[in-house]
Amino acid sequence: MKKNGIFLYSNKIAASVETRTRLEEKLEKSGYPVHNSLQEDTELVVVIGGDGTLLEAIHQFDFPDVPFIGINTGHLGFFQELMPSQLDDFIFNYGQNRFSIQELSTVDIRVDSNGVISNHTGLNEIAIKSNDNHSIHLNMSIGGSFIQRFSGDGVIIATPAGSTAYNYSLGGSIVDPRVNVLQLTPIAPMNTIAYRSFTSSILLPPELELGIIPDGRSSEKPLRIIFDGYCKNYSPVDSIKVSMGDKKVKLLRFDNYDFWTKVKSKFLL
Ligand code: NAP
Repeated sequence: MKKNGIFLYSNKIAASVETRTRLEEKLEKSGYPVHNSLQEDTELVVVIGGDGTLLEAIHQFDFPDVPFIGINTGHLGFFQELMPSQLDDFIFNYGQNRFSIQELSTVDIRVDSNGVISNHTGLNEIAIKSNDNHSIHLNMSIGGSFIQRFSGDGVIIATPAGSTAYNYSLGGSIVDPRVNVLQLTPIAPMNTIAYRSFTSSILLPPELELGIIPDGRSSEKPLRIIFDGYCKNYSPVDSIKVSMGDKKVKLLRFDNYDFWTKVKSKFLL
């Protein structure tokens, strides 16, 4: 059977460069053309690095439809499926079609700034903060119904895939990616007689949109929108809409992959 190309994407640390060289040799010996860029007939992207490198590749190629697999040479490697010692197993199992595709939901944000609309997508989360460490004040609606006026450092809206990242550090819940929800998690919410909003995360079903209108002084000040660590400042912000993303990210998983075993191995052991 004709084999299409495999694109190798790596960060620059020595372990990644060495793994990439070994993998390239092994793939070529097994009859797979190795691509050094994302091409139309690329059938798989192998990302060598940590979660940060995987997020970088996904953003650089604008959430392509092609599946990704990660080889962990980074620190945590929550998305990553393989270790550098498993290259032969990877080529064998891939050739035997012994894998499944995990589809991960994304989150979309639409920012209206003076009538100019900007759109961004996150695989982990979108964070909304001030650009200068001041508190921000946001009027929030869910599905068109006004819910709360938030005051604090900001909010994040995390996907299930991102629930183990920034969201978890903020006290949010870990969500199995088979549960299709967005999680709105506050960052240092103020709760006094002056300000009142939910202090815990809340979960939103995929069909409901989160609407945000900056309140009072916040409407004149720049807001910082952070999508998987990539930042953009907007000023003034008239309105924001956040919803489940249109795009999906596909990760290749081998037969022994289990989400909760992975969570345990990265967070409890
Ligand atoms: P980064 O240094 O690239 O990542 C920070 C840490 O988060 C790294 O250890 C990374 O793993 C890990 N990580 C990334 N995605 C993850 C996921 N889905 N589940 C579990 N851990 C994950 O930081 P960055 O460039 O600023 O932003 C990238 C991501 O880092 C953001 O999307 C955000 O979720 C997370 N972040 C976390 C905090 C926090 O926890 N306080 C603050 C800012 C950002 P690797 O070591 O394998 O790269």
